[in-house]
Amino acid sequence: MKFELLPDKVARVLSDAGRIADEIGYNIYVVGGFVRDLIIGVENLDIDLVVEGDGICFAKKFSEKYSAKLETYERFRTALVTMENGLSIDIVTARKEKYPHPAALPEVSEGTVRDDLFRRDFTINSMAIKLNSNDWGKVIDFFEGEKDLSKGIIRILHDLSFIDDPTRIIRAVRFEARYGFHMEEKTESLAVKAIESGIFDALSRERIGFEFDILLREKNFAEILKRMLNLGILEKIYPEIDLTDVLMDILASLDKKISLLQKNLKFNENIDKILLYILILHYNMNSEKACSSASRMRLNKSFKHEILSFINIRDNSLPMLIGKGSVSNYDIYIAFKEISTEVLVALYLIEDNHIFHERILKYINCLRSIKPCITGKDLLKAGVKPGPEFKEILQSILIQKVNGTINTIEEELDYVKKTRISSES
Ligand code: ATP
Repeated sequence: MKFELLPDKVARVLSDAGRIADEIGYNIYVVGGFVRDLIIGVENLDIDLVVEGDGICFAKKFSEKYSAKLETYERFRTALVTMENGLSIDIVTARKEKYPHPAALPEVSEGTVRDDLFRRDFTINSMAIKLNSNDWGKVIDFFEGEKDLSKGIIRILHDLSFIDDPTRIIRAVRFEARYGFHMEEKTESLAVKAIESGIFDALSRERIGFEFDILLREKNFAEILKRMLNLGILEKIYPEIDLTDVLMDILASLDKKISLLQKNLKFNENIDKILLYILILHYNMNSEKACSSASRMRLNKSFKHEILSFINIRDNSLPMLIGKGSVSNYDIYIAFKEISTEVLVALYLIEDNHIFHERILKYINCLRSIKPCITGKDLLKAGVKPGPEFKEILQSILIQKVNGTINTIEEELDYVKKTRISSES
């Protein structure tokens, strides 16, 4: 076991956990993704412990030793320990699960480590390593997880696995893309059958949204989407999405495209990649469809607003902005004024139009930061009375600055003077 590759703080936590469990006479194991990643040599700091005994009792002793924060969940006898060094440790009492009906939440009862591993999704996630001193480092692998891991195979533990919990199909696709693995033949055919049977209809939108949110954070999101499209998952969970080849290509090369674009930008702000994905996924929708898709995805208000602003600019300003006709700087300024950088970047990536690209770059690099230099104080000094005229003058200066007919503060002051003279005469 590659324990020696673990960061010190993790190795210490695991050996202390073993010692504390020894003291109270429990068997204890680290399980799941942590073991999978340890075997393939990928860092994973999510520590999941399974206790054969009372998980909460163990968690109390463990958190006392580290003076760590403890949250307990009596119903499932689980606990979460958050340590000062940043590690958080999930502790569960070994349990059995029974699904009362497809896609429902399971009924649980106490069990052995084998029961606990058997309730898991795939063989590669169903391995444990014992932490008690006498068996320290012993790999517990009832379902040939290590073999599947070495072959790059995602395999469920029993034939009803996807019916019990269809989120596992989404998880399978995630692990395929993340590790370059593939579903074992029977597992894939059971997944396809479950999808075709409409199993996702039985799953709550919250649970689908939760899984999708994790996918959006994966490095190979485009690959995952493609696979979901081919397996028929996407149309079942998000029927509004219409992923054309063009959109797929953009998603697949998003990182490269963003860094190319950033070279042409004179700013260094962070781009929210998740928002960008969401916008691109909504590109082929009208606003009505987009609203229902956003609700289905359980997106927050701000994301919904961004999607609608994206669709609005696509429908209302784009024809003018991609045309060769005369478009002033101020026309560009007004079209993009309330628009977030992500919406601009999404439009830039999707619309393959040179003139439009130049206009977006001009706005981001130059127009959007233009403001009058003079202030209300200067206007008062020039004898303008506070009121609507203030706003009118400042607005007019802004327009002229954006259009390049006023460039310096002296020209702004000159303009105020001229306006005064003409309004007095
Ligand atoms: P990641 O690296 O993405 O966090 P993970 O495998 O650690 O992957 P978690 O969601 O943290 O994923 O789950 C921890 C463990 O719990 C998994 O390794 C697996 O054993 C089990 N698990 C999670 N979700 C399910 C599920 N839907 N059905 C069965 N077991 C699951």
